[in-house]
Amino acid sequence: MADQHPKYLWWRGEQVRWEDATVHVTDLAWSTVGAVFEGIRGYWNEDQETLFIFRLPEHLARLADSMKVVRLPLAYSLDELQSAIIDLITANESREDTYIRPLAYSSRSSGKRLSAAAAEADLLINTNVMPTHLLTGYTQKARISSWTRISDTVMPPRIKNISNYRNGQLATMEAVQDGYDVAFLLNPQGKVAEASGACVAMIRRGKLITPDVTSGILESITRDALLTIAREDLGIEVEERPVDRTEMYLADEVFTCGTAAEITPVVEVDRYQIGDGETGPVTKALEQKFQAILHGTDPRSEAWCTLVPLRAAVHA
Ligand SMILES: *Cc1c(COP(=O)(O)O)cnc(C)c1O
Repeated sequence: MADQHPKYLWWRGEQVRWEDATVHVTDLAWSTVGAVFEGIRGYWNEDQETLFIFRLPEHLARLADSMKVVRLPLAYSLDELQSAIIDLITANESREDTYIRPLAYSSRSSGKRLSAAAAEADLLINTNVMPTHLLTGYTQKARISSWTRISDTVMPPRIKNISNYRNGQLATMEAVQDGYDVAFLLNPQGKVAEASGACVAMIRRGKLITPDVTSGILESITRDALLTIAREDLGIEVEERPVDRTEMYLADEVFTCGTAAEITPVVEVDRYQIGDGETGPVTKALEQKFQAILHGTDPRSEAWCTLVPLRAAVHA
């Protein structure tokens, strides 16, 4: 049901009933312009009755990085936030694939102008259901956007800064109106940066090639994991470097990756068919390995997943 929500969220240092987590409407004006967030996923393993949260410490470290860049003070330790998330998942009995979204914003900004730096920040963590689409056969068609990806001279592309997302949203709206599923943005140098909200990679001549972290991309935790898997588990050579749009046209495989995108195969770019127009073999191998890791059935799961056991309540 669309109006379903979990029982609790975590706000200003404690669990709060969903209905009770309200702010005054005048706080909306400036509080969100400098907000930053994280997107984290937990995957449900029914056999073990356990939620596997993917790379939770890395996501919380990036939240701290995001807050630092926009000068929001962080009043909690990362261990405290980790415990808050585990307790929230437990209280909400999240026995299904779950998205976890911490959001930090400057608080009590009502009536004030946008000032130099926020003296105070509030932190909200909420959860919602988000089923996986890995290995479902879902694919996308991409266009190169007429919008340019924000550059490091304008906004901080490497962090999850809320105001960055207008850039990707404009690109997505354009792509969808033009009959595509997803937009790829070039950076001001004309090189491929990323998709709106996900990183981009391609397979060409047996190598996995992806824009490097100074190409105006977000420092993606999924991208980092997939590069490790490709190198160490699949034995594929990886190149992180500037990427031309025409290289993508000639690629054997293209996919996007990220917490929300997971691994999404891209079968067309600007109406050029990629490979044979279906999910390619390397993409499929990555998807299979990634799926096993996320669900706790791979040797890498232990290092990369935080486990939250959630036994079903026994009804007498
Ligand atoms: C979150 C995000 C990604 C993917 O990063 P992950 O850490 O893998 O989730 C890529 N691009 C943008 C713009 C993002 O916001």
